Amino acid sequence: MTSHPERISEDGTAVDRTAEITRALGLVRDRLTAACLSAGRSDDVRLLPVTKFFPARDVAILYGLGCRDFGESREQEASAKVDDLAAGFEASPPRWHMIGHLQRNKAKSVARWASSIHSVDSDRLVDALQKAVSKAVDEGARTEPLDVLIQISIDGDVHRGGVEREDLAALADRVASSENLRLSGVMAVPPIDADPEEAFADLAELHGRLVAQHPGATELSAGMTSDLEAAVRHGSTCVRVGTAILGSRPIASPVEPMDHISNN
Ligand SMILES: *Cc1c(COP(=O)(O)O)cnc(C)c1O
Repeated sequence: MTSHPERISEDGTAVDRTAEITRALGLVRDRLTAACLSAGRSDDVRLLPVTKFFPARDVAILYGLGCRDFGESREQEASAKVDDLAAGFEASPPRWHMIGHLQRNKAKSVARWASSIHSVDSDRLVDALQKAVSKAVDEGARTEPLDVLIQISIDGDVHRGGVEREDLAALADRVASSENLRLSGVMAVPPIDADPEEAFADLAELHGRLVAQHPGATELSAGMTSDLEAAVRHGSTCVRVGTAILGSRPIASPVEPMDHISNN
């Protein structure tokens, strides 16, 4: 999986994808280090490369550069990639994280391959995941519970995914009392026109209240290519970065409510 075809860039020169990704990943790691330093943080902020829209061979390149965790946002695309990367990586298998909106009828698939999901936002999805993970465990398809992060809608526009803040506590209790789910924290994407600084400050406060009730829910999944510094300043434990590592994604037809995130 380490070999790769060279592709031809727009100006006609060959592009070495491995060199390109190596350089971009290095820059993002430097950016994250600098962000932690300037925020005065000595704890680890994890970098979750987001590989949606990019082929399995790009994931293999990132794996070769030491990455083991990958974020995907579309169930079908992700499960195909998971299958592509199943063989040859058994010694230190990649961990896959579902970060996009999930329909309940896809819970069964996600329960087979995801080590965490960052986008849980309804009782019905919690129940579907609990059932699906329990079944996957019974069938020997997985051994560990599923780590669950609750996605919070900062502005209450739930069409873009996320639970309203008023419903966070009850949803968290439901996850925590589901045998095969482990409440690990919260995730949010700032509203499109919001000041990320304010949005992440708000999120950090909501997270703090949740941790008071559920001390194990320490994960704060916040920050992407454009706003990771602000997220790190406000306590992010995991930044989800796609564009800055792999480049711009192709524009697909707007089919999902999350398309402004999935495609831009
Ligand atoms: C696509 C996506 C990302 C990555 O966004 P970039 O701006 O490309 O870094 C992060 N989080 C979610 C939920 C996404 O869907």
